[in-house]
Amino acid sequence: MAATISSLPAPRAPAEPEPAFEPIQREELVSYYRNLFPFNQLVQWLSYPAEVPPSKIKQEATESFSSAVISASASHYLARREFAIVLQPSGAAPGTEIFRRHLSFLDSGALRRAIIADHTVRFEVGAIHPRPPNLNRPASGKTAFLSASLPLERELVFDIDMDDYDRARSCCSGKQCCRRCFGYIACAGDILTTALREDFGFERTLWAYSGRRGAHLWVADRRARLLTPDARGAIVSYLNLASEGDDGHFRILGPRLPPTLRARAIIRRHFERVVLRDQNAFNHAKTLAFIESILSVALSRDVYARVRDEWNRIGTGPDSLERWAALERLVPGEACDTLMFAFCHPRLDVQVTRQTNHLLKSPFCVHPATGRICVALSTEELADFDPEAVPTIRSVERELNRSETADREPADEADFTTRNIHRTSLRRSLLTLEAFLQSLQPAAMPSE
Ligand SMILES: [Zn+2]
Repeated sequence: MAATISSLPAPRAPAEPEPAFEPIQREELVSYYRNLFPFNQLVQWLSYPAEVPPSKIKQEATESFSSAVISASASHYLARREFAIVLQPSGAAPGTEIFRRHLSFLDSGALRRAIIADHTVRFEVGAIHPRPPNLNRPASGKTAFLSASLPLERELVFDIDMDDYDRARSCCSGKQCCRRCFGYIACAGDILTTALREDFGFERTLWAYSGRRGAHLWVADRRARLLTPDARGAIVSYLNLASEGDDGHFRILGPRLPPTLRARAIIRRHFERVVLRDQNAFNHAKTLAFIESILSVALSRDVYARVRDEWNRIGTGPDSLERWAALERLVPGEACDTLMFAFCHPRLDVQVTRQTNHLLKSPFCVHPATGRICVALSTEELADFDPEAVPTIRSVERELNRSETADREPADEADFTTRNIHRTSLRRSLLTLEAFLQSLQPAAMPSE
């Protein structure tokens, strides 16, 4: 019979429950989208104007549109992009939402005007269709999508949610998420973007915080945007490095294959900080139960009993370094690898990535339950990201109000929101988005 582990400390006080967030008022949304949302930069990205030869645009525009409505070279491409908006109807209680999809816009001004006029809570970005999705909207009272059109292009997207790491978290659970557990997303992001770059040649990537407990990865390389759903599904399978069987047996898939060895090296770089120090996983009942569920299958009963005896001898501490070192001393390397992957392998939502008609919340939108802005992030910025320190719709409004030079009148729509953002803590996130836009320029990627 295996010895029990004594002297477990009292569980760390759980993270403070999320303070009740006072519902966002329609006026706050209007002010944010009017004064701070970077529509121009977002639309510049979603139009990929530099990739479409002007002659091609003109020909296509003539075929499908009156030239009078084509206001810029990028408009035609943008007009075929599906958007969905979530709005709060006039007079409705905060929290009441209406979802409208199959919308499309000719330029950033049209998108901006619609978002403001409809008191939009948030909006979502979809795929590029053969014709503008708003021409395919069902008539009033009908719910069916009239067109059978399939998306022609769609960014390759990934969604990572902290819910899927619950057994690996000692600090939070469920909808909670803090800097310590976000470290798992940083590790997953490192693994994902490395594999996408080295194995698929995809380099144009942007992360966006989901506003509460997750992050979205947008891959914008043209070859990625043209992938079929099956190819996207195959990429998810390729990136899936580990699985847990119904028997509770956790397996590393292809443990000696180069992508798995590379992921192992990346996990090793994150493991000490995330699992051993920030989570102190070997000293908390919840994460220790997860460790036990893995090792009790991976190790013989005798070996596991010796490990537990040694952990009892070591006792608990402010981190898990000593208990991990003892494990590495006493058991085969494969068992330690299995444990590292069980804690840190990326948990991917297959359907989000596979379906090209899936909608994903736009970066810089506001999460209605937290008020946090869905800031843009680079892979490097994930490592130090603190979800609890993210600017909120109210904090940026306060920052703007403190600025004596804030632009309140959109006399110059092209620049005034950019100037305003630079007066708030959203500045860093805008710089990240602009660096991403630079990477989309053909000169930055001569191979595409
Ligand atoms: Zn946490």
